[in-house]
Amino acid sequence: MKKIQMVDLISQYQHIKPTIDKGFEEVLSTASFINGPQVNLFAQNLEKYLDVKHVIPCGNGTEALQIALMALDLQPGDEVITSDFTFAATVEVISLLKLNSVLVDVDYDTFTISPEAIRKAITPRTKAIIPVHLFGQCANMEEILQIANEHNLYVIEDNAQAIGAEYTFKNGTCKKSGTMGIIGTTSFFPSKNLGCYGDGGALFTDDDELAHKIRGIVNHGMYKRYYHDEIGVNSRLDSLQAVVLNTKLPLLDSYNEKRIKAANYYDRAFSDHPNLVIPVRMEIYSTHVFHQYTLKVINSDRNSLQQYLSKREIPAMIYYPVPLRKQKAYDNGNYNDEDFPVTNKLIDEVISLPMHTELEEDQLKFITDTVLNFFK
Ligand SMILES: *Cc1c(COP(=O)(O)O)cnc(C)c1O
Repeated sequence: MKKIQMVDLISQYQHIKPTIDKGFEEVLSTASFINGPQVNLFAQNLEKYLDVKHVIPCGNGTEALQIALMALDLQPGDEVITSDFTFAATVEVISLLKLNSVLVDVDYDTFTISPEAIRKAITPRTKAIIPVHLFGQCANMEEILQIANEHNLYVIEDNAQAIGAEYTFKNGTCKKSGTMGIIGTTSFFPSKNLGCYGDGGALFTDDDELAHKIRGIVNHGMYKRYYHDEIGVNSRLDSLQAVVLNTKLPLLDSYNEKRIKAANYYDRAFSDHPNLVIPVRMEIYSTHVFHQYTLKVINSDRNSLQQYLSKREIPAMIYYPVPLRKQKAYDNGNYNDEDFPVTNKLIDEVISLPMHTELEEDQLKFITDTVLNFFK
């Protein structure tokens, strides 16, 4: 059996090596490291895949979120509602821009932001909601967009973990994850479902004016060379990363299929277990592309399970061990523990198992057998 890894990018590379190597050589031999034709080609390819009017590549997923907030002209003191249970990038950029982050509880089944909690958190200063499509499944966008509509709020989707997922609205309309809000953002960090070999990110929008503004912001606020119309940043996807993404984008659906297959294997092994809750798939509205396969461990000791697996060379991760509102950097003293019953529970229950495109049957068998043996 091959050594089990949380993510196996080395084996994945072996399958696409000729195309990647050839593309890299082309960039190297033309020295078109920045703004090479590969970058624009990738933006066009992703526009087609997502069926969105504009894809603007940028440096990473965190900057994509920051640029989205800058493009919407949010002002210091404006409130932005987001999830208490996610990676810190979202709350980080809100705070960097001196906006007020309002963290709210999540839904127990899906780990995504609770529409009910959003409603309770809205004030006259609320300007935007950032739902995070956590672990590979879309948040309840039907309700979130409805709330946003009622209160005239922007919705920015953090799609770093769910690229390729599809959302179906009650009226039958089907949209790719990240294309439902005014802006969607994503990350191409190597371990994401669509990852490059360094840092990368992108913003998506159907709005021409916003797209124009974003194209300026990512490039020092320049629309004409050396004329700076607004304060921008330097945030670029480089040509080598675009080579990787152009190679991997046509494979994204098959990559996600492989993740779903591994998730199905895990589900079969764990679905009847009294101490394990398998990830709930909200098939009525979203497909699940399993960026992570996250179990809940109930009436047992999650940390001991993690140690037990680790001793048997099975990596397993706790995403996420600390709610964002309790992080030193973001604890503003305004939160009440009673408002976060779900996050408070999840941080003790969740454990994510190895999940990637190269998992083999003997590895899956060893992982599931070992997890089940822990409880015997
Ligand atoms: C990875 C991730 C980000 C940040 O992306 P980077 O490219 O690492 O900056 C933001 N939000 C979520 C939910 C993520 O998983």
